[in-house]
Amino acid sequence: MQGNVTIQENGIKQLDNYIGGAWQEAGNAKYTAVKNPANGEEIAQVRLSTKEDVDLAVKAAKKAQKEWALVPAPERADYLYEIGRIMIEKKEHLSQVLTKEMGKVIEEARGEVQEGIDMAFYMAGEGRRLVGETVPSELQNKFAMSVRAPIGVVGLITPWNFPIAIATWKSFPAIVAGNTFVWKPATETPLMAYEMALIFEEVGLPKGVANVVFGAGSEVGTAMIENPDVRVISFTGSTDTGRRIAELGGRHLKKVSLEMGGKNAVIVLEDADLDLAVEGILWSAFGTAGQRCTACSRVIVHKNVKKELEQRLVEEMKQLTIGDGSDESVKVGPVVNAGSIEKIANYVEIGKKEGAKLLAGGSALTEGELAKGHYFEPTLFTDVKWDSRLAQEEIFGPVVSLIEVESLEEAIEVNNSVIFGLSSSIFSRDVNKVFQAQRDLDTGIVYVNAGTTGAEIHLPFGGTKGTGNGNRDSGKAALDVFTEWKSVYVDFSGKLQRAQIDNS
Ligand code: NAD
Repeated sequence: MQGNVTIQENGIKQLDNYIGGAWQEAGNAKYTAVKNPANGEEIAQVRLSTKEDVDLAVKAAKKAQKEWALVPAPERADYLYEIGRIMIEKKEHLSQVLTKEMGKVIEEARGEVQEGIDMAFYMAGEGRRLVGETVPSELQNKFAMSVRAPIGVVGLITPWNFPIAIATWKSFPAIVAGNTFVWKPATETPLMAYEMALIFEEVGLPKGVANVVFGAGSEVGTAMIENPDVRVISFTGSTDTGRRIAELGGRHLKKVSLEMGGKNAVIVLEDADLDLAVEGILWSAFGTAGQRCTACSRVIVHKNVKKELEQRLVEEMKQLTIGDGSDESVKVGPVVNAGSIEKIANYVEIGKKEGAKLLAGGSALTEGELAKGHYFEPTLFTDVKWDSRLAQEEIFGPVVSLIEVESLEEAIEVNNSVIFGLSSSIFSRDVNKVFQAQRDLDTGIVYVNAGTTGAEIHLPFGGTKGTGNGNRDSGKAALDVFTEWKSVYVDFSGKLQRAQIDNS
């Protein structure tokens, strides 16, 4: 039996938790509707879990972990190869569900699923590496090495904007390293988590290695952090939530990895290839309707090219087709829900009050078919002050602020003035300026002659300051979150030798 869900007469699936290899009804009898942001259609129902459900999942994960840690890592990796293979088989289906559930255009949804596939194969490769060090010892006949040890049960808390990719960034390194996990997906995107749980079930992961618990952050997330058997919390989401998690996690002495908000900028210098810059800005600002953590939300432009850049952006923005992302011709899909429309509209008002000049967009789209969904026009402000709220706070929608500067140094200062530090980009043909910028931009990701989005899975992903707490998802760096270093000394001298710390 796979994916044991109740299907209502109208075809709507009622989703339940996946715990200990079985589909289990959550304690809370009430189902919540999941709606397609493109047209308001109900696409699934999900039961919100309680603390008891979380405790059950943690118990199952704990029971499975000891044995899982003893499975040789290359064998653990075989499950990931199989997961990757099934994801390839199901790529189109997963992409369609993704678009329906959170709204991103189908081309981007395919890209996101591909990212998950790439992560499966990349992390499977780690099953034959998980590299530690062997180093010389201070003493004769003594061997010294460090190994990566699994930590135990890990808790994963993920956002709705990359419902598959981010889950794979966390769950795949966690299991290849010998941990078991309990995953709480965002309440907006349970269907994608259900699809992933189906795959975990299909590959036959031992019971309890992978567990999915649906529900609200305040209840399920909190219960996960407070459960003494959860040793690591890996979170991606907003900075406000991350701060709360860090505080609570700190009290419980949890290892907490946080990937949080951004206020990413594209810098356009006067020697930039403007055609390329315009293309890069449009893609990174309005892709996923501006709802990427790496989305370009500020353009820091040299005064000598500001007018031309403004004109070109406004012209090109007119060409962006807006609508249901499952239509292949659409370039900008809906935002996730009504609350998001309200937040974006509020920032547009703030921008106007702060004296910024609205060059394009600025309103929700409510005519015809679009009235059924949550759509906001791609929006461009200019003459934005670097220290205004519009330029400093994360909006998470299709809104861009142009800020004028007079030099590279000023551009870098403006870029670094925000509390976040995720991604930045610079368009310039001057190699000296480019190298100076990549050194001085205080962000975890720097792009040269490309927009702010588009990470590759084999490099670390994350940011500085209010974006992170020093950890990284993705790449080899992800293993640091899900393993402990263990230093092992083997003395084969047959006598008690003292290390230098014990010798005078
Ligand atoms: P969010 O912070 O509202 O929610 C993220 C997750 O945390 C959800 O699963 C939510 O249910 C859970 N949660 C909420 N309150 C909680 C609590 N008190 N305790 C435990 N868990 C709780 O964020 P969102 O709206 O889902 O996602 C958008 C945000 O995520 C943006 O700020 C964006 O920049 C950020 N993001 C960051 C990255 C990155 O890698 N840096 C990637 C994607 C998204």
